[in-house]
Amino acid sequence: NEEIQLASRPEGLPDEHTFRFVSTEMPAPKENEILVKSLYLSVDPYMRGRMREGKSYAAPYSIDQVITGGVVGEVVESKSSNFQKGDIVTGMLNWARYQTVQEGIVQKVNPSLAPISTNLGVLGMPGATAYFGLMDIGQPKEGETVVVSGAAGAVGMLVGQIAKIQGARVVGIAGSQEKIDYLVNELNFDVAINYKDADFKSKLADACSNGVDVYFENVGGEISDEVFKHLNTHARIPVCGAISSYNNKELDLGPRVQTILIKNRALMKGFLVSDYANRFPEGIKQLAAWIMAGKLKYEETIIDGFENTPEAFLGLFKGTNLGKLLVKVADP
Ligand code: NDP
Repeated sequence: NEEIQLASRPEGLPDEHTFRFVSTEMPAPKENEILVKSLYLSVDPYMRGRMREGKSYAAPYSIDQVITGGVVGEVVESKSSNFQKGDIVTGMLNWARYQTVQEGIVQKVNPSLAPISTNLGVLGMPGATAYFGLMDIGQPKEGETVVVSGAAGAVGMLVGQIAKIQGARVVGIAGSQEKIDYLVNELNFDVAINYKDADFKSKLADACSNGVDVYFENVGGEISDEVFKHLNTHARIPVCGAISSYNNKELDLGPRVQTILIKNRALMKGFLVSDYANRFPEGIKQLAAWIMAGKLKYEETIIDGFENTPEAFLGLFKGTNLGKLLVKVADP
């Protein structure tokens, strides 16, 4: 068996010194435990925060300890009356090929409803983040302009489409021409803009000539500074993430937007998807219904091989992913 530990706290972008692969004994389940074989591991931006010392919104990972995150796996041995060999489960588990788990830690997944990987994406944490952040805080109305950054990622891609379903005009911001083309041609975003283009600012101004009613914030930094210039009166800003600063030693100064917020009586509200934990079933049910009705698309970028997990994680900061970034460890 094998697991991935945090070898050292990264300064800046994680590198080969950050992670350590360790061979371990094959674990055996005790009473009320199951043995889980990892099938998919989720790599998520918040995990970078957990590699820092001190509390972010989740407890920091400990040095020389196995890294944990969202996992979908298969029960290969069961000493629990609630699980059978062959069951598919998901939960916050170890970055390990195999692990024993207490029965209360994981939920069963019904593999006949949707591809099992979607439990880590559109029908899991990122889906709930997009749905509740946009619907509860953003509250987009028909004809309003919704801007979303990180627009071709797991959360952003769903945010833009949900805003379209609500009848809004959607402007997406992402980091490559391929992503821009995808957002406009495949997801029917009204406009998509590459923030790496030299004329990003003027393109954004053109796209937001009627102002911005909702800005779904995924990236922070200079992109946000630019979007804030176009806020309308009573704009709403769900603050979901700020990935542009996650590898910085010091967090960004700011917000640099007080006068803009005051002038526009705008609402800027940070949130955690866990705030909505008791409403997850409602959100996931709605997302699944939209998928079934052909109104919502999702993408997954799947990196093959447990040994490629660190590289996959780094992809989040390089923008290698379209939609949800996952590692495939094994077939069921
Ligand atoms: P994504 O799938 O969006 O992957 C991250 C993307 O961020 C990359 O693909 C890349 O796309 C973009 N990116 C990386 N570096 C930069 C940069 N310096 N400037 C601008 N864009 C950058 O990840 P998720 O959908 O999982 O997460 C999106 C955001 O939502 C993150 O900030 C995350 O922390 C946050 N989040 C918050 C939650 C909450 O509870 N509040 C829950 C889940 C996520 P590109 O090619 O466009 O640069």
